[in-house]
Amino acid sequence: MNKSADLRPDAMAATHDVFNQATALEGHNLYAGDTALREGVARHGGGWGEADLQRYGEVCGRADVIEWGYLANEFKPQFDTHDRFGHRVDLVKYHPAYHHLMKQALTEGLHSSPWTDPKAGAHVVRAAKYYLHSQVESGHCCPITMTFAATPSLTLTPAIAEQWLGKVHARDYDPRNVPHTAKQALTLGMGMTEKQGGSDVRANTTRAYPLGQPGPGEAYELVGHKWFLSAPMCDAFLMLAQTERGLSCFLVPRWRPDGSKNPLQVQRLKNKMGNVSNASSEVELRGALGWMVGEEGRGVPAIIEMVAMTRFDCMIGSSAGQRQATLQAIHHAAHRSAFGKMLIDQPLMQNVLADLQLEVEGSLAITLRMAEALDNLDDPRQQLLMRLGTAVGKYWICKRTPHHAYEAMECIGGNGVMENCILPRLYRDAPINAIWEGSGNVQALDVLRALAKTPAVLEAWFDELGKSVGADARLDQAVKTLQSEFSDLAEAEYRGRHLVDQLTLTMQAHLLVQAGDTAVAEGFIASRLGSQGDRQYGTLPRGIDVKGIIARGRQDA
Ligand SMILES: Cc1cc2nc3c(=O)[nH]c(=O)nc-3n(C[C@H](O)[C@H](O)[C@H](O)COP(=O)(O)OP(=O)(O)OC[C@H]3O[C@@H](n4cnc5c(N)ncnc54)[C@H](O)[C@@H]3O)c2cc1C
Repeated sequence: MNKSADLRPDAMAATHDVFNQATALEGHNLYAGDTALREGVARHGGGWGEADLQRYGEVCGRADVIEWGYLANEFKPQFDTHDRFGHRVDLVKYHPAYHHLMKQALTEGLHSSPWTDPKAGAHVVRAAKYYLHSQVESGHCCPITMTFAATPSLTLTPAIAEQWLGKVHARDYDPRNVPHTAKQALTLGMGMTEKQGGSDVRANTTRAYPLGQPGPGEAYELVGHKWFLSAPMCDAFLMLAQTERGLSCFLVPRWRPDGSKNPLQVQRLKNKMGNVSNASSEVELRGALGWMVGEEGRGVPAIIEMVAMTRFDCMIGSSAGQRQATLQAIHHAAHRSAFGKMLIDQPLMQNVLADLQLEVEGSLAITLRMAEALDNLDDPRQQLLMRLGTAVGKYWICKRTPHHAYEAMECIGGNGVMENCILPRLYRDAPINAIWEGSGNVQALDVLRALAKTPAVLEAWFDELGKSVGADARLDQAVKTLQSEFSDLAEAEYRGRHLVDQLTLTMQAHLLVQAGDTAVAEGFIASRLGSQGDRQYGTLPRGIDVKGIIARGRQDA
């Protein structure tokens, strides 16, 4: 007798009910649900952007927009050296989702709004908007950031600025592989790193030869290579190359103005563990045309204008990664029960979730404070704060993000490891910002360099911290200890990371005290100042209002 005939048809079809699983987090307003962000924007002078941020928060929570992020990473960029007839094209082809993300970012002005509409709070509002946008997908943010960051460098050479900035700032996206002269909207990249040196760009061997007169704004041909050149479909790149007077900066277009292909040839795309939606390439320059930006032999000071801005954007991007990871972890915990209680109500999970949220609060606080400093660069004190703040903030936030992403993943359990969850992407993307644009040690050394060159940067930092004197004895003590550490700079390089750690933590604690949420300030100070040692997330001491802290990170769609 056929045994299966005994089985009822409905039993064959339905093996079980699906229950106790979280829902996808979509159809929500990413701004409305972010208490820390809304408060921060208002506190740092961006209140006028509230309506636009509310609008954009809804866009960034839309299911179709979230899906773009998945598609742009699932379908990796493809590279063709030549077209089918044998012409050199250096063409990178992307999934349409990547182009949607690019268009979205550019039409929202994430690459240009503080330059085209400079006013109090312009950088704060742009930072907040970018923070929302980056949570959808971070890979395509690389060319957006580079385009944004290039403006201060291009401005050094008025002839170039006049010719390029209008199109660089345009709120449009033109992905065609055609000369910049045929486009109304352009994107920009950067090429510093060579095989023999990335952090130490003085080792660059690429050479630039003047075609006529040498000097700023003049045409040169570049011969050499770049070992990393991200977003190679950008319309032009700021690059370093040696001239007779030393390392200089050049703007190198993909195509020459006469319509011929500039011999900036992509050798291959990098095979990266993260940031995969963004193509990164190795290129050779075989007499590529470029125009000098800034003074001859002053290439590093010229491109450092751009680097300062990309570092600031790394702070935004990594803070955004932390926020998205925490949001997902809290959402999951609010919809999943174990051992008879929702995860979000389990004391040990509350400790972990609140700790993850405290990390976000600290990252966002220092990022928005630096955005405010950027909005006020006509004030020398803000300039000094900014000089130290981007190195300190980039170092700390980017370095904290990979482990933070992993802890958020663990909150979600097995589902958090699967590629149809955003956590694996957040985790793989997390180390990139830490390495790109100056790795951890290089940032720490940059802080020491700034201190040696302009001791007033430290004064400005402590002046800012001074605004919280008397608010909390533990913070007062931490600041005092830090001051005494700086009074003896013996073996400063060796101690560099420790010093920067303490600069960041005291600044974050101060900013959170000023922000006025006592649960957050108390949780942060109690867990991060003093001799906490090498702690894990989820080790907050007793007496912290973990529910209050988690509520600030919770998104109720
Ligand atoms: C995804 C991705 C995209 C990138 N895109 C671009 C791009 O578009 N354009 C571009 O120009 N570059 C790009 N880079 C390159 C990146 O900027 C470099 O990898 C980075 O600056 C480090 O340089 P390096 O790889 O040569 O490492 P190295 O310079 O060899 O550094 C290795 C390590 O040594 C440390 N170190 C260096 N000097 C010291 C010191 N004095 N004391 C102590 N420690 C030190 C560094 O912190 C680092 O941890 C990209 C990198 C990645 C991963």
